[in-house]
Amino acid sequence: MQEPPQLSVVIPVYNEEASLPDLFARLYPALDALGLSYEVVFINDGSRDRSAALLREQWERRPDATRVVLFNANYGQHPAIVAGFEHCRGERVVTMDADLQNPPEEIAKLLAAMDAGHDYVGGVRRQREDSWFRRLASKAMNRLRERITRIRMTDQGCMLRAYSREIAAAVAASREVSTFIPALAYTFASNPAEVDVAHAERAAGKSHYPLYKLIRLNFDLITGFSLVPLQLFSMFGMFVSAAALATYIGVIGYRLFFAPWEGMAEVFWDRDILAFFLIGMLLFGLGLIGEYVGRIYQQVRARPRYMIRAVLERPAEEPVER
Ligand code: UDP
Ligand code: MG
Repeated sequence: MQEPPQLSVVIPVYNEEASLPDLFARLYPALDALGLSYEVVFINDGSRDRSAALLREQWERRPDATRVVLFNANYGQHPAIVAGFEHCRGERVVTMDADLQNPPEEIAKLLAAMDAGHDYVGGVRRQREDSWFRRLASKAMNRLRERITRIRMTDQGCMLRAYSREIAAAVAASREVSTFIPALAYTFASNPAEVDVAHAERAAGKSHYPLYKLIRLNFDLITGFSLVPLQLFSMFGMFVSAAALATYIGVIGYRLFFAPWEGMAEVFWDRDILAFFLIGMLLFGLGLIGEYVGRIYQQVRARPRYMIRAVLERPAEEPVER
């Protein structure tokens, strides 16, 4: 039997042919420098470029420390990480991006925090190298998530994170269809910590998260971990009813006693505009309920989260040569 390695590094890969050679060249030496046994688990998320071929070459170069899970189609970054958690065997698991925005040299910092007794260590990108729009949107989403979920993390978008074996196993065992790994793992952590890590500009290729996908991901994060949006709607409904009642009482009183103010109400009261406002809120609320119903629907269909075409790894038992 092979001993389980001390460290597994899980990396989802989607159309990263331009980044992979540099990633291999920096990642393996950085891991060698740690002086522990390790494996790197790449998940090819249905890339349509040469990524799969490059991963196979790397596996042939370093079969002792490399595994490659090949999806048969594109299922998304987070399902790919779940597959990585299912296939890795290390005592500790580090996730990172394939595009070298997370410097592999920073892994040592995460492990040092784990040595100090933490079971979940999140990276925080103090100096983030993304567009100002992405940075602003992230700040807003971080703040919103902080308010309406119980998940406390400074930088939810940073994928450079370390998890104990138990947490990675719990994430892999969670049967949630769509999920956000850093947040899900956080719910299982007993002693989470954060460390500052460096962040680099994307060296090659381009981001796979256009605005629409970012909005989807954040909806998933909010509806996946909080019921507050639904509750807000009941609150808003109660508030509107109470305000309407108060207005009604006011209007009746005014008609009975303050007839000289005739005409004042018309200045502030435009039923069409107010009705459009309410209709907008109603549609938004309906869509919000749809988000939750959609999640329930996906969950009850219970489809597999991904399909694996092949796994490149050394057989567990080396064949005996005669
Ligand atoms: N990724 C993936 N499947 C996808 C989209 C992205 O496996 O459908 C991987 C991608 O190869 C990279 C990581 O997820 O390793 C983060 O993606 P990206 O760098 O495009 O995101 P950004 O840094 O712009 O947030
Ligand atoms: Mg990136």
